[in-house]
Amino acid sequence: MSADITQDESVDIKANLAQVSRQIASLIQQHQRVTDSVRLLAVSKTKPLAALEAAYHAGQRAFGENYVQEAVDKCQALAHLSGIEWHFIGPIQSNKSRLIAETMHWVHSVDREKIALRLNDQRPVGLPPLNVCIQVNISGEESKSGVALSQLDAMVTFIARLPNLRLRGLMAIPAPQANHMAQCAVYAPLQQAFIELSKSDSMIDTLSIGMSGDLSAAIQSGSTMVRVGTAIFGERDYSAKA
Ligand SMILES: *Cc1c(COP(=O)(O)O)cnc(C)c1O
Repeated sequence: MSADITQDESVDIKANLAQVSRQIASLIQQHQRVTDSVRLLAVSKTKPLAALEAAYHAGQRAFGENYVQEAVDKCQALAHLSGIEWHFIGPIQSNKSRLIAETMHWVHSVDREKIALRLNDQRPVGLPPLNVCIQVNISGEESKSGVALSQLDAMVTFIARLPNLRLRGLMAIPAPQANHMAQCAVYAPLQQAFIELSKSDSMIDTLSIGMSGDLSAAIQSGSTMVRVGTAIFGERDYSAKA
């Protein structure tokens, strides 16, 4: 099979983006959040350039990618689209940190001091500081990624000393929960940690939580950036990936 290089024409990205934006706006109202306080990150992993271009031309600017080489390739291929913003949201191997530091605007998945240090040291001179979120493990042993809440203060202190990183907030990928109440219960300690952190540092403005399955709970729990893929771009096909 050939790689999926064209956009599936049955997916109307512009209409999907409008639909997701309406859903976010209505959840903001429902949970009595401030208007426009939740950004939409369009998660475009495995999707072809044409799909990202379609989203861009519909007004979307922030894109999330999980695989380093794919992220770098897309960033280079779409460099002509002004104002496009690249967010790395996947696991980071240390031998790939340089590529991330050189190309991305944001990294949501910082969960080790070693990676933070490498991103700082490898951020090219002349680029603004890399915006980072600390990935927090709020699901306990079910997840291997993320800093435990008990280790969060140490990680914040470590990153605060790195001049080429700008700490913007926290990110989490909780294990799936049975219902809305359970989703909110898992988010509660994270929201508390975020509130404490933002009191101590005025640059902290981002709580990256919420995916297609838990948008309502995430927005109720203070999310400022939701990460949505499938509802915008359609189902992913991983068969073409190496
Ligand atoms: C893939 C991914 C998403 C988006 O998932 P969908 O179910 O396609 O909306 C969000 N966050 C992270 C970290 C992801 O890897």
